[in-house]
Amino acid sequence: MYFLCPHCRDELSLNAGGRLVCATCGDSGARQMDEGLIFFDRCQDTHNFFEKQALEQLDRFYQDYDDQRFEDCLGRQELWEMDEANRHVGITKKFWWERYLGKIENKRVLDVGSGVNYIVPYLLRSDNEVVAFDVCAESVRYQRKMLGRLSVPIDRLTSAVADVEQIELSQAFDVVNVNNVLHHVDDKLAALSRLHRCLNDDGKLMIVEPNYYYPPRWIIETDVFDPFNAVKNFFVRNYLIEQGEKAVIFSELASLLAETGFRVDHRMKDENYLSYFTVYWMRERSLLARTFGWCDRVILGNVLPRILAPFEYIVASKV
Ligand SMILES: [Zn+2]
Repeated sequence: MYFLCPHCRDELSLNAGGRLVCATCGDSGARQMDEGLIFFDRCQDTHNFFEKQALEQLDRFYQDYDDQRFEDCLGRQELWEMDEANRHVGITKKFWWERYLGKIENKRVLDVGSGVNYIVPYLLRSDNEVVAFDVCAESVRYQRKMLGRLSVPIDRLTSAVADVEQIELSQAFDVVNVNNVLHHVDDKLAALSRLHRCLNDDGKLMIVEPNYYYPPRWIIETDVFDPFNAVKNFFVRNYLIEQGEKAVIFSELASLLAETGFRVDHRMKDENYLSYFTVYWMRERSLLARTFGWCDRVILGNVLPRILAPFEYIVASKV
């Protein structure tokens, strides 16, 4: 059991009613549903955002998913060729960490806000032990259903419906992966402090988040033009962004990381300046998508600064 009492960090044990209890505090607010699935009661995605935004589309992407489709998906690493299922949930570059950390295998990995994407199946396929959680119960269930279609060792996965601002986990993880999560979290300080406590002393924290100052995103998210921002209103009305959603200001995140005891080892800008706001209307691997990808890699990626990049990637260690 990786999850600890959220109040005192003592071990939890399973009682006869299926509840996880702490010897000191009593009920932890969590229950074990099935083997490998834990559910924290008070954890609700209050805006119901992910359900509306993504889940109705998941079946379209994954209904005939199998090992062969999964292998094909892993081969599509850059945004211009990205498979629709991963592109749809904001993946712009697969395996970005490998240039810094190499292949992640035979490790204990925590995937925070895991959603449904290539990362957990890939980590399981690479002989890692994985704990993955999300605030959205439906996406946790769907991820397990999708994994059931693949020949990956699902018995090495612990899933949970849980909130990163509230959980405590044992200090057991070699890698903690945070992919497009922090910009939905109100109390980032609490979240990062909790992640710090569950990372091994020589472990690595990997973060990918959208950058607030990427110009097409800034126009959608800024409050400067409220309430007359027609583009923003359209995106909120159609569940393309959450009400009040703000991407990450990386200078602020860097301060929070320092405050919570992390040292930033690497920062990498995402180079998809042009592709990120165009490629969604193009077919994957189309000539135009390939041309825009080339333009980003060869020209814009070399001249435009990090402060304007669509995403930023960070690797951090414990101080
Ligand atoms: Zn306790």
